[in-house]
Amino acid sequence: MRLRDATWTDVRDCETDLAVVPVGSTEQHGPHAPLGTDVVTAEAVADAGIERVDHEVACAPVIPIGVAEEHRQFPGTMWVSAETFRNYVREAVESLAHHGLDRVVLVNGHGGNVDALREVGGRITRDGDAYAVPFTWFEAVGEHSAEMGHGGPLETALLRHCAPELVREDRIDEARAGRAEGWGDWVSYSNLAYDAAEFTENGVVGDPQAGDERRGEELLELAGDALARLLEAVAERDVSRPERRE
Ligand SMILES: [Zn+2]
Repeated sequence: MRLRDATWTDVRDCETDLAVVPVGSTEQHGPHAPLGTDVVTAEAVADAGIERVDHEVACAPVIPIGVAEEHRQFPGTMWVSAETFRNYVREAVESLAHHGLDRVVLVNGHGGNVDALREVGGRITRDGDAYAVPFTWFEAVGEHSAEMGHGGPLETALLRHCAPELVREDRIDEARAGRAEGWGDWVSYSNLAYDAAEFTENGVVGDPQAGDERRGEELLELAGDALARLLEAVAERDVSRPERRE
């Protein structure tokens, strides 16, 4: 059930307590991939996970702006502070919990959101308002995960599978020419760079040519299967806090 398309009576009559909130970002993804890449991928993975489970799941509209100041030198990038983001996610989850949708998986498409989502998930859960746990798709795709990058092989592959019209194929050579091979500028296990523009000329990290449509299909299958397993686990879990158990 997508909340965007459902009516309030549909929600009143549904039996489930399980919800998904896709979380994206609006930020540069190189010259070849759209600013909304993380919105598209988060929604696609959320759909793929939900369609694999027997439980009814309420799917909220995507949260489209996240913690992305590290891309601020690239036009069109939007961001909010981690504090604003955490508060927004928390209140959005609380509104779901108000209707009994109090087991929530935050399906994330953006690396910059990871720490804030983990933190807010813990806060929501410990305070007893709901149970909330983040899932970041590119951490859940097996050996592919090591090649994540940015606008690189994984994201470009998933876009080629889910929304090929959004990939500017005629700019792939340009994307490859200005790319970095890895994220950050590391010395003694410290990342000296705060902004992506310090280590990548055009915002790309990794080779977008290494992610064809077939790979995107496999990524969606892996991420969808992983999310489905998580949804089943969250549905079955004793989410009461240990200190409140008998
Ligand atoms: Zn991205």
